[in-house]
Amino acid sequence: MEIVRTVAELRAWSRAERGRAGNTVGLVPTMGALHAGHALLIRAAATGCGQVAVSIFVNPTQFGPNEDYARYPRTFEADCALAEAEGAHVVFAPGVEEMYPAGAASFVEVEGLSDRLDGKSRPGHFRGVATVVAKLLIAAEPDRAYFGQKDAAQVAVLRRMVADLRLGTGVVVCPIVREPDGLALSSRNIYLNAAERAQALTLSRAVRETEARVAAGERRADVLLAAARAVFAEEPAVRVDYIELVDWATLEPVSTATPGTLFAVAAWVGATRLIDNSIVA
Ligand code: AMP
Repeated sequence: MEIVRTVAELRAWSRAERGRAGNTVGLVPTMGALHAGHALLIRAAATGCGQVAVSIFVNPTQFGPNEDYARYPRTFEADCALAEAEGAHVVFAPGVEEMYPAGAASFVEVEGLSDRLDGKSRPGHFRGVATVVAKLLIAAEPDRAYFGQKDAAQVAVLRRMVADLRLGTGVVVCPIVREPDGLALSSRNIYLNAAERAQALTLSRAVRETEARVAAGERRADVLLAAARAVFAEEPAVRVDYIELVDWATLEPVSTATPGTLFAVAAWVGATRLIDNSIVA
């Protein structure tokens, strides 16, 4: 596995690979601190594409001024070992100045969608995400890019962006990987102490409660949301950011759950903000 640091090298590699008859390139964008959720994306890319690049870049523009950019976990050596073991051919690990040259003034704004769900409580977050993913897709020119349903609002923003900018990359969404007790894997779970780790299960409990009610035939959004709120009410130490039932494409609230509707929650567990979700079957 090769480690490349510049956009020029990544693009040259991708063009050479895509120039081979029948070959395809997959890209898995990450911020590192790789876990089994990322591993699933890399494996899916290795299954679906002839060549796989994993990008590892803690993107400063998607963090708010009081967020965890400085202390975000950075585990580069272990990340490279995991990426290689899961079938990656290239790790793209640029410096900040490679992705944002001095004086950089160009950003990608996905209007409307960027102000909903996580974008509402993290102003500027999706502008940073859309900008860095656009840069990565323009650099790597992949046939397909792999993202986790874990960040479902991000998926909606990126699908819109890829369609609007006609980037031509296929967007592949992989299911949420969870701990055995239900907690969705996240690079931020290491911030949790033992008490918070237990409280964090409230999110997946609310997701399971909603799934169970939908499976039992309930479709009314107000009833489903009230049931999810009741789950959170049992754990007052956890502070809800949002509990929403929305159209997965527009992120607009719906009054009735239908197949493809996104049920999403975000909550603060101590100083750590966690998210979870489920797509109505
Ligand atoms: P991150 O490194 O947190 O920016 O995440 C990189 C990619 O991994 C994103 O597409 C995430 O949605 C995905 N991802 C993160 N956690 C999980 C998980 N528990 N299961 C599946 N995919 C995940």
